[in-house]
Amino acid sequence: MKRLTRAFAAVAAVSAVALSAACSSGVSTPQSSSDPTVATGIEFPAGSTMARIQDAGTIRIGTKFDQPLFGLKNPITGNPEGFDAEMGKLIAAKLGIPANKIEWVETVSANREPFLEQGRVDAVIATYTINDKRKQVIDFGGPYYIAGQSLMVQAGNPEAITGPDDLSGKNVCSVEGSASSTNIRDLVPTTNVVLFDSYSKCSDALKNGQVQAVTTDNTILAGLRSLDPDSFELVDTTFTQEPYGIGIAKGREDLVAFIDDSLQQAFDNGEWSTAWDDTAGKILGDAPAPPRLDSY
Ligand code: GLU
Repeated sequence: MKRLTRAFAAVAAVSAVALSAACSSGVSTPQSSSDPTVATGIEFPAGSTMARIQDAGTIRIGTKFDQPLFGLKNPITGNPEGFDAEMGKLIAAKLGIPANKIEWVETVSANREPFLEQGRVDAVIATYTINDKRKQVIDFGGPYYIAGQSLMVQAGNPEAITGPDDLSGKNVCSVEGSASSTNIRDLVPTTNVVLFDSYSKCSDALKNGQVQAVTTDNTILAGLRSLDPDSFELVDTTFTQEPYGIGIAKGREDLVAFIDDSLQQAFDNGEWSTAWDDTAGKILGDAPAPPRLDSY
């Protein structure tokens, strides 16, 4: 991220000018009481990715639709709700696009890079860990949050699981294409990893006793447990760092730099912590200090 930011400092400077121009115009067009202020009068360099999105009048954002606290589809509005959805609204607003013009596209763990590479979405904001393997095929803005991998077990913890070392020979559920599945295989090769395409299916398998644990980010597990707290229990440990980034297709470094500028502004002006408090913070507690954008 550091290298990328430096390499495109010139572009970032242009973005920063555009952002401050938008702020100084001071016009707000809120979509609902909680939606971020939409930038108006903003001009992007001709031919830039931001100008193309602005001209389209919409941004296509891939996110999860079944993850409480981060991206959970509201059955009435059809829109996802949660911290990731708020990050999407925030970036869209800084591009001059109101929340009701965002095109939300459901992404699961395994199709995030393909959807970006195929141009089906402009950005993926979906509990998406920045890592070197993914950076070979896409770029990331951020990080905007740092999670950690953990474990969820049945209430009462019948198998007395306190960490990854207790998983040997056990059936442990995770999701195809996730960093969680790779991490657990690397950490405990003797675990039988059972894979589904979404974490909500892992909850069902745990409840039914088909698996003895679910493993993924502590954030996701907390959201899943909040739906059925009598059935599940969280193991009080994290054993990885999962920095969440905003995935962008290669060749759009201007948008990556713009996203980093926008996130930094949101860290500084409190929009980021408000978004946290309104969503994931309701279960996960107070917002931590925002991560450093050059840390991953
Ligand atoms: N953060 C991890 C990842 O990006 C696990 C969560 C997920 O699958 O969305 O793979």
